[in-house]
Amino acid sequence: MAVSTRFDGLPEVRFDLLSDQCHQCESVVSMRIGYGWDSHEFQPGVPLKIGGVELPFGKGLAGHSDGDVLLHAITDALLGAVAAGDIGSYFPPSDPKWKGADSAIFLAEALKQVQRAGYRIANVDSTLILSEPKIGPHAKKIQQRVAELLGINLGQVGIKAKTPEGMGTENAVIAHVAVLLEKL
Ligand SMILES: [Zn+2]
Repeated sequence: MAVSTRFDGLPEVRFDLLSDQCHQCESVVSMRIGYGWDSHEFQPGVPLKIGGVELPFGKGLAGHSDGDVLLHAITDALLGAVAAGDIGSYFPPSDPKWKGADSAIFLAEALKQVQRAGYRIANVDSTLILSEPKIGPHAKKIQQRVAELLGINLGQVGIKAKTPEGMGTENAVIAHVAVLLEKL
């Protein structure tokens, strides 16, 4: 904003449109949204890990690494938010190196990409879709672990679960995740 004198002697207040408007533009582009989803099929004889927490259940999830469907979806959401590819481009499932790997490794890489792009996490929201086990009794522990892995507060992590009514996916766990990032 600048103040000068008009030709008739009255003060004239001028707004520097460029700087004012650009400031607003900056606040708009200083946030980015990311979305990720994943699914894994149940497999007997392996531990069940969801959100970095091992849940007491008779079977776990098959597939990439330790099959942590929630951490995989969060990883993809974070990478997507900064347009940095997806989990498979960093950790190909075809590479035997990642068989049984702790999915916290993938999350750490995604977090690094977010920080490299100059952003931090505003919040993460997730929905798990599974017929069993019940997530309610474990939701707090999952929320705490995810917050810890991401270096954010509990209030920045949403953990929700639904049963797959009419979807025919009783033998799988599905995770949907949305993240919001803010410019550092
Ligand atoms: Zn996965």
